[in-house]
Amino acid sequence: MAGEPQSDCLFCKIVVGEVPATIVRETETTVAFRDINPQAPTHVLVIPKVHHPDAGTLAAAEPAVAADVLREAAEVAAQEKIDGTGFRIVFNTGTGAGQTVFHAHAHVLGGRGLEWPPG
Ligand code: 5GP
Ligand code: ZN
Repeated sequence: MAGEPQSDCLFCKIVVGEVPATIVRETETTVAFRDINPQAPTHVLVIPKVHHPDAGTLAAAEPAVAADVLREAAEVAAQEKIDGTGFRIVFNTGTGAGQTVFHAHAHVLGGRGLEWPPG
């Protein structure tokens, strides 16, 4: 069921500590941890503790938690000191856009030049 932990979901396992991660921030509703394959000097993932397959379905089902994810993404940027130079918050949605983990997550990227439009 949407919102329930999924036994086959990598990020649900990170939420309960079953899979280790380098956690940089945690709130009642979110966890932020370093991406295992960083694409920038700072590359942190912010996830809701509840399971929804992508950011849009999270926002439709639990808008307050979606807002928590966004707020935490900005807090990560401040904590990592990349807010001064600019940073990017990305929600890959669908395999065609590069989504590989189907538990909603925000990528927070910064610490290098970020071209626009992205590749
Ligand atoms: P997506 O491609 O779905 O937008 O993002 C998934 C991200 O999760 C990728 O950037 C990938 O490097 C990261 N990732 C995959 N497996 C793990 C893991 O076990 N631990 C951590 N910390 N990140 C992971
Ligand atoms: Zn999950």
